Amino acid sequence: MLILPDNFQPAILPPADIEQPAWWFIFAHGQLLARSADQGLELPLASVWPFAKWPPARRLYLGTLQGRPCHAAEAVNAEPPPGWAFENLRGLWTRLDETLLGVAGHALQLIEWDRNHQFCGQCGTPTERRAEERARYCHACQLAAYPRLSPVVMVRVTYNDKILLARAPRFAPGMYSVLAGFVEAGETLEQTIHREVAEEVGIQVCNLRYFASQSWPFPHSLMIAFTADYASGQLQVDGREILEARWFVPNQMPGLPSPMSMAWRLIQDYLAHHH
Ligand SMILES: [Zn+2]
Repeated sequence: MLILPDNFQPAILPPADIEQPAWWFIFAHGQLLARSADQGLELPLASVWPFAKWPPARRLYLGTLQGRPCHAAEAVNAEPPPGWAFENLRGLWTRLDETLLGVAGHALQLIEWDRNHQFCGQCGTPTERRAEERARYCHACQLAAYPRLSPVVMVRVTYNDKILLARAPRFAPGMYSVLAGFVEAGETLEQTIHREVAEEVGIQVCNLRYFASQSWPFPHSLMIAFTADYASGQLQVDGREILEARWFVPNQMPGLPSPMSMAWRLIQDYLAHHH
């Protein structure tokens, strides 16, 4: 699960003691620098990056993980040092320590936000980071840009012992998942669920219940999961966002999304109660 660990303490300014060991989350094109270890992968615990040779496009202090400083940096046009490789974050589930993976997701979002807010969105003046809050600030017009989060609701619809799963065009062959959609400006989460389910598969649902939430830093989503019961209507997919939707039972499940995802957790919870 991509969850910022409880023992992570966010901070904006680095500690004065720059000699102590620190975690480095170094990204290039959205991929994280890591290397193989005895069990899975490890991250640099010191500045292994040749900063003098390849200055990073940006560096950000993140805070501390179990008291140890965490830095993020973005490399450009660079090769990893010998023995190290840039890895896709989505492929790190079970290979990288879960707490480090959680901080890596946080780091990736901040690196992207910092890169995408170099100039004021209102007047075009170059922005500067603030020391007192996580923001990029325009001194010409006082507009502040904060890291962006895009809420997405996800809903597991069941009908007796059956679960509704659907296929989107971007899914791998044979893979199905629960329904999800972005929250529109002005909507409540409940309204988003009723609208998305009706738009995508043509049915009505009832008994919405909150399940859990999770960060999904690709690039800046917050997944908010619910469960619901089928109420009425005939399955009819929109053919655009959803190509196919079907009711499944536990012993005939299709291919499922990544164990890193909220969708996987929702589906596992269903299976645990309907085996
Ligand atoms: Zn401005």
